[in-house]
Amino acid sequence: MTATPDPAPLRLPVRPELAHEEPYGAPQLDVPVLLNVNENPYRPSDAVVASIASAVADAAVTLNRYPDREFRTLRTALGAYLERESGVGGLDADHLWAANGSNEVMLHLLQAFGGPGRTALSFAPTYSMYPEYARDTNTAWVAGRREEDFTLDVDVAARLIEEVRPAVVLLPSPNNPTGTALPLDTVRRLLDVARTSGPDGAATVLVIDEAYAEFRREGVPSALELLASNPHLAVSRTMSKAFGMAGARVGYLAAAPALVDALRVVRLPYHLSAVTQAVALAALAHTDELMAQVASLRAERDELATWLLEHGLDAVPSDANFVLFGRFRDRHAVWQGLLDAGILVRETGPDGWLRVSVGTPQETAAFKAALVEVLA
Ligand SMILES: *Cc1c(COP(=O)(O)O)cnc(C)c1O
Repeated sequence: MTATPDPAPLRLPVRPELAHEEPYGAPQLDVPVLLNVNENPYRPSDAVVASIASAVADAAVTLNRYPDREFRTLRTALGAYLERESGVGGLDADHLWAANGSNEVMLHLLQAFGGPGRTALSFAPTYSMYPEYARDTNTAWVAGRREEDFTLDVDVAARLIEEVRPAVVLLPSPNNPTGTALPLDTVRRLLDVARTSGPDGAATVLVIDEAYAEFRREGVPSALELLASNPHLAVSRTMSKAFGMAGARVGYLAAAPALVDALRVVRLPYHLSAVTQAVALAALAHTDELMAQVASLRAERDELATWLLEHGLDAVPSDANFVLFGRFRDRHAVWQGLLDAGILVRETGPDGWLRVSVGTPQETAAFKAALVEVLA
């Protein structure tokens, strides 16, 4: 046999800006108490599981066919849910969009409105996925700053928008990782600026990412209230957090029909599987039960924040299902100490802070006990 010479080493044509990137994601570790990615700690009830199983069985017999590409039944149900949750009506199927998690919804937004020569803007500290959507769509990324207390100074924000002229502004409310909600006056003011602050005098699309909106405190409004008068506003939501359906991958947004139509152009054909649509519809039929659970998680959150303050720590006031707490000279040591005790929290946000999700009362008790030990 003649030896074949080694072929020249082959190089994959990875985009240069991706060459040294690692896949993003919080550590998925197998520990008893998971308080790191803001999931709902309660598994779906037996009643919810039964509804989902039956809906999936019905969908299964149709799986030789592509799913409903426009999924108007689900969009209608999501609009009805939003009306119930926020009191804002008139959100029919034309005003709704959905995808595999709000992560994909936001990718659609950047595919439709971002791209080469365009810029997306947010204010740090904020959700760590935003710069990735920008990178993946070849959109320039600019991050302004929030204030020391993690609120947004509306004058600073308005000035930066006018200067940067972004195609898209991404603002979570409540913010992740701080839990800070945006006052509607701030959103209103930014929407006014955004009417002509985009590329070539077009509007900037203002995305209010309300992934945690259901956890907001009494009297805190939703940006859904501003949709009717703002065709450049998109309010994004998810079934991953309050709804306890992170594993189903369903996110959605409400916006004016013209904005939704732009997203319909960039989505992959049949992006939302028949199984996903069936699961989401079945879960939405149990809204009452899920909303009662959210109320108890909210109470648990307030109690946890108070406990942290009483123990001499800082805790950022939160409208979400997590609390940013600190401040630690060596936050990694505290994170590791908690992990050694079987409790996984998130090492994220500005240095010195850690983020803990609200768990069941038992999980929260285990977290408190471990934290007292670690800090002793
Ligand atoms: C968790 C989260 C989401 C939701 O992501 P999904 O893709 O819907 O699971 C969106 N935005 C923020 C700020 C989040 O923290």
